[in-house]
Amino acid sequence: MGNCSKCKEKAIFLNPNFCKKHFIDYFENKVKKTIKDYGLFSKKDKIAVACSGGKDSTTILFILKKSGFNVEALAINEGIDSYRNHTLVDLKKFCKENKVKLKVVSFKEEFENTLDEMLKQRKNPCTVCGIFRRNLMNRYSKDYDKIVTGHNLDDEAQAVMMNLFTANVDLLDKSNPKSKKIKGFTQRIKPLYFCSEKEVAAYALLKGFEVGFTECPYVHKAFRHDVRSALNNFEEEHKGTKLNILKKHLKNISKIKTSSESIAYCSECGEPSRGKICKACKLLSEIQSFK
Ligand code: SF4
Repeated sequence: MGNCSKCKEKAIFLNPNFCKKHFIDYFENKVKKTIKDYGLFSKKDKIAVACSGGKDSTTILFILKKSGFNVEALAINEGIDSYRNHTLVDLKKFCKENKVKLKVVSFKEEFENTLDEMLKQRKNPCTVCGIFRRNLMNRYSKDYDKIVTGHNLDDEAQAVMMNLFTANVDLLDKSNPKSKKIKGFTQRIKPLYFCSEKEVAAYALLKGFEVGFTECPYVHKAFRHDVRSALNNFEEEHKGTKLNILKKHLKNISKIKTSSESIAYCSECGEPSRGKICKACKLLSEIQSFK
């Protein structure tokens, strides 16, 4: 497997080649550099970390807590049988051990049904999940200065390509280490923006985080799933594809008209919305009228 590029130890990670100690240093420095280069937040900020109990959000929660940032964890229980209940057990344990305050909000309590129950109407699980999850994340992060998510380089390259495939050019600015400041929205921050999925998984394993690596049972229904496979194939054949997408994307987004320029507020709930009524209110009334 070769040796570490910094010392004579055996490399446990390839491309770049690092032993355990130097990989952990490399990874943590990369996250700190993103925070500094993009001015993501300061020690004065009160930060909510959107947590799922998975490797990405657990990793960023751990690094921020260890670095002395003022963080609390916010989790959404969508109600996905034999999946989310397991990841939340891991998250609760992690937060207890690391002395992080955790708040869990559920679809059942907020919208009367679990995600599984809502899908009896044959709606696309990821569409329903995404709309309600974003709504809860924004509503429950209003007392915080920023909300951090665990989106990594792979997630963000997929998001850029998905918006291009669907010609949603006005949504492209959502893929950014930090969102624009918009009234009614808690600013969203992605410190793992330049860390690949492989790097995050290696860090979580090396640190011994108790996180499940199983995926949501609905993942195969997601458009993202197909884009992820395609991008992984490209990356296999053309190393650096995902990073190049993001680098070019960040250069270009300042030049295009974006979604944040046409934001309004929902006449039903007052949350930020691109139309008169927000997607969450529309979806909720469709689900309720189906009963
Ligand atoms: Fe939600 Fe789809 Fe992700 Fe499952 S795969 S957690 S349904 S967005």
